[in-house]
Amino acid sequence: MSATRVLVLNSGSSSVKYQLLDMADSSRLAVGLVERIGEETSRLKHTPLAGDGAERERTGPIADHEAALKAVAAELAADGLGLDSPELAAIGHRVVHGGKHFTEPTVVDDAVLAEIERLIPVAPLHNPANLTGIRTAQALRPDLPQVAVFDTAFHTTMPEAAARYAIDVATADEHRVRRYGFHGTSHAYVSRTTAELLGKAPEDVNVIVLHLGNGASASAVRGGRCVDTSMGLTPLEGLVMGTRSGDLDPAVIFHLARVGGLSIDEIDTLLNKKSGLIGLCGDNDMREIRRRIDEGDEQARLAFDIYIHRLKKYIGAYYAVLGRVDAIAFTAGVGENAAPVRAAAVAGLEELGLAVDGELNSVRSDEPRLISPEYARVKVAVVPTDEELEIAAQTYALVGRHG
Ligand code: ADP
Repeated sequence: MSATRVLVLNSGSSSVKYQLLDMADSSRLAVGLVERIGEETSRLKHTPLAGDGAERERTGPIADHEAALKAVAAELAADGLGLDSPELAAIGHRVVHGGKHFTEPTVVDDAVLAEIERLIPVAPLHNPANLTGIRTAQALRPDLPQVAVFDTAFHTTMPEAAARYAIDVATADEHRVRRYGFHGTSHAYVSRTTAELLGKAPEDVNVIVLHLGNGASASAVRGGRCVDTSMGLTPLEGLVMGTRSGDLDPAVIFHLARVGGLSIDEIDTLLNKKSGLIGLCGDNDMREIRRRIDEGDEQARLAFDIYIHRLKKYIGAYYAVLGRVDAIAFTAGVGENAAPVRAAAVAGLEELGLAVDGELNSVRSDEPRLISPEYARVKVAVVPTDEELEIAAQTYALVGRHG
């Protein structure tokens, strides 16, 4: 029996999302989520997809990541999909920050763990949780390859002109300050799928990818390689997001500290958690914002307009960076579902060869699709992202090569 299954783990500070896939046919066998780890009200939601089992939910305290992963293992075992199965080929871990060092998915060993740990200062919220996830999985199955798939890897092809900030070079290098970019697994998957949708090889296609979820980022992809992206040292830079400000004058921070009397931690929380759409109008869910706009809510309208204005600026900027654009691809929660966002982002850009067909744009579907009219020089695509499938595929490809 050959080992074709891959467990994908996405470990956050208080949550673990997981999917078990069979890479023989890229099918999903089970998906689930553990939330509020470390609290009294932890919750595990497990959905078996292979047989006819129904979704199961368990609530009650789950103390830490080790307990969480053991609980996940028990749920999988109950479906006959236990982690001790010889069919499990590897565990693929989403790791947020791989710095400049990790340009590809990597089989985890002690040196890899040490490097992920060394990157904690530039990813204090994410890398510690990712490390915990890897170590816990290692303890459960020490013999199994653990593969780290980095959110930053796809962006390591950016030229220095795009990756460097215009600050003192020695200071930047000492503190590893540069543009790293995030959501790379999604940008890689969506840009490749967009090329497929156009019936072309990725090498022949230039794409602007707009990943619009709660976190949001844009990237310019030339011939399958990322040449610029909107998130930077951290996921705070760039587009207006659900709770993050995206771009602002860095002096806003000095001003808030010196004149407003806010501490660095307070400003950090303000810009990461209380800004963006939620800061502008009190809601970060685009469905709610659209509902309020339909009721004539001015604050929601302004928040939407600021969101769209920023998005347009990035489309224009990346158009110029690429020189020739074959397609713009919308993805993630907002990009895949919010037709008004897609229409507004592209409105008025006909001179750039961009247009959206109202009817095609309003069709709801889980499939990659084009929403631009036949005549449009630049195609507009909606491509549902699938980061777990991409992590599983990269993990399996690596383990297959080595194993
Ligand atoms: P993340 O992975 O960054 O948490 P997602 O990619 O799942 O986020 O996107 C979540 C966001 O997608 C929600 O906050 C909401 O704004 C938006 N969203 C989800 N479904 C819809 C919908 N049907 N219409 C408009 N926006 C939606």
